[in-house]
Amino acid sequence: MSALFMALAGFLLSCDSTSDHAQNSDEKTFGDQFDQAIEEGGKLIDELSEQVDAIEINGFTIADDKKMGKELYEKIMNSGEYKVLDRSANAKLYGYVEGIKQRILHSGKLKHKNDFEWTLTIIDDDETINAFCAPGGYIFVYTGILKFLDNEAEFAGVMAHEIGHADRRHGTRQLTKSLGIDLILSFLLGDGNGQVARQITSGLLNLRYSRKYEREADKCSVKYLCQTDYNAAGAAGFFEKILQTKGDQSLELLSTHPDPKERIRNFKSEKEACNCSGNHSFGQRYQKMKMNL
Ligand SMILES: [Zn+2]
Repeated sequence: MSALFMALAGFLLSCDSTSDHAQNSDEKTFGDQFDQAIEEGGKLIDELSEQVDAIEINGFTIADDKKMGKELYEKIMNSGEYKVLDRSANAKLYGYVEGIKQRILHSGKLKHKNDFEWTLTIIDDDETINAFCAPGGYIFVYTGILKFLDNEAEFAGVMAHEIGHADRRHGTRQLTKSLGIDLILSFLLGDGNGQVARQITSGLLNLRYSRKYEREADKCSVKYLCQTDYNAAGAAGFFEKILQTKGDQSLELLSTHPDPKERIRNFKSEKEACNCSGNHSFGQRYQKMKMNL
């Protein structure tokens, strides 16, 4: 409720500042003032919708996100199904990708930067053009997506999208909707033999996010990169390349398919709406990294 209160408080402050502004500016016509009020009203409605989204019910706690993510992480690391790229033998590559991760984490726009783990693991699989982030901030990047992309801003955009899924707790929010409160209560209270916990972990492995969450993660990508010198619409380059080269190949980023063309447009318009000034793609140093992959 406090988030909603803040939004309403923001509304009152904004109304005050509008009337002050009107009194102090004699040259403005009534039409100008009216347009300005409409514009400010639109911004407030956007802000309010974000606040309402932010108080969407999540039956799990922050600690649950971390616990589930850790279980999933351990399952992936120990299953033998995933070939993890050795950290010490590939220290330079890990250092490069860690640097991109740190720029995103330090954007000042994450809600759970200090709550979650934000570990990075590279999977040695050139055939899989993918990346994902488990609840609690366990980031996985395939060598396939590193090789597929052309510059650092594109990759940073994709990573920021995945970080957005974890930071906005999409995994547990979606589980809250799909499992229902009974199963969540069994999980929270402990069901003795851990069967529910196992069921939830395997549910997370096969989770497909809703369109709403994909759109939200896309917005996060722009918001995070907007605070860096990257082109904040970097992730658009991923979809442009996918459309050019792969058609509609099924990928995590395309899984719940808001239309890729619509997503490209949204990345660019969001960048403009947020007045993001960074415009670097860092193509050269990305290509240099790829030569050692
Ligand atoms: Zn996604």
